[in-house]
Amino acid sequence: MFIRPPGFEYEKQELHCERVPLSKLADKFGTPLYVYSAATIRERYSILDRAFRAVPHTICYSVKANSNLSILRLLAGLGAGFDIVSGGELERVRVASKKAVKKVVFSGVGKTAEELRLTLRSGILLFNVESEGELELLSECALKLRKNARIALRVNPDVPAETHPYISTGLREHKFGVPISAARELCRRAAGRKYLTVAGVSLHIGSQITDVSPFGIAIERAVDLIQQLASDGHQIRFIDAGGGLGVSYNSAEQADFAGVARKYAEAIIRPLLRLKKLKPHLLLEPGRSIIAPAGAVVTRVLYEKQNGNKRFVVADAAMNDLIRPALYGAKHEITPVSLTRTDRDLLADVVGPICESGDFLARDAALSPATPGELLCIYDAGAYGMSLASNYNSRLRAAEVLVDGARTRLVRRRETMKDILQTEMACL
Ligand SMILES: *Cc1c(COP(=O)(O)O)cnc(C)c1O
Repeated sequence: MFIRPPGFEYEKQELHCERVPLSKLADKFGTPLYVYSAATIRERYSILDRAFRAVPHTICYSVKANSNLSILRLLAGLGAGFDIVSGGELERVRVASKKAVKKVVFSGVGKTAEELRLTLRSGILLFNVESEGELELLSECALKLRKNARIALRVNPDVPAETHPYISTGLREHKFGVPISAARELCRRAAGRKYLTVAGVSLHIGSQITDVSPFGIAIERAVDLIQQLASDGHQIRFIDAGGGLGVSYNSAEQADFAGVARKYAEAIIRPLLRLKKLKPHLLLEPGRSIIAPAGAVVTRVLYEKQNGNKRFVVADAAMNDLIRPALYGAKHEITPVSLTRTDRDLLADVVGPICESGDFLARDAALSPATPGELLCIYDAGAYGMSLASNYNSRLRAAEVLVDGARTRLVRRRETMKDILQTEMACL
């Protein structure tokens, strides 16, 4: 059975986000609309934070999961640092909270010289270096700018994690990190560079991982490496465990997030105890586990149609708004915003207006007959929803609102055709 995320509840048959009816938001801001629950974001952040209270740690929220400025600012206010994967994401953190810049870790296999210079100048916490070439370039940039950089080698622990192949990252055949066997030599080399300090070890084994044991195995391997690095004379101050904790998109098994967070923390903390006197500061880079259940897409039904045996509900949201079903075969629960109907649920594909057969939001969803104009809610869309949205089919990207109790703030206005056209020229 599907358990709705806590920020979204029916009250008198009407779906609300916290204290605000979704129908009211749809009328005021239009559809498709991203709606976020501020209480859920706070709650999930603090559950994770508490789960790790036994060790010194910083939660560096992964900006790419959802990079809305207001959400970043909300998290910065709770004490979060940030995990960024581009110079653009650093700009977002800077706009959201200047103070948070010193709690930024920079990950990614393809950092450009420009991005390295930008981050060197702004004095971030840690560079997660993913290759020998990047180490050389960072050293060169740091030397020219005379800026110090703390680095952690991102190692590839070669741990399989049960998840979609596109979001599994911790195997030898993946492009991420350096092999653990090469780490010692690279750190030795880095330590010889004037402006670089080897300060940690980092890893990230993938995303949407629901069994916590791979996290434990990966940290075991990182701990072995840290012991070697310490014996080589490096002062290892940080261990970055990455992100990747999964959420439940369509079952009750993870409704108890506090329980999940406890197990996750246990898996990561236990291997750390072997480090005894060496007490590195633990960095965590959760994205999805904080923000996915806090967001939903509200969409309006345009048509309902029957093609042979197949029933289709055509909605005004599409794969450009929420690409997860098309890209990963992800399943998102969908329910009507208003429960006034008493008709039996029938199976339907909920699809968008885009000219692609891959443009579906749900396949074989159980939904009562829908009438044009009716509103539907697509759950657990807070992570990798808006941040992956595009203008495909020249569709305007959706608006986003943040609900906090009875209060609603528009945190991104709906795009206009003018926004889209302004970077283009009609030559010839
Ligand atoms: C994407 C990413 C994360 C966040 O992953 P989630 O599954 O959203 O928690 C963390 N660290 C790195 C390096 C990433 O690429």
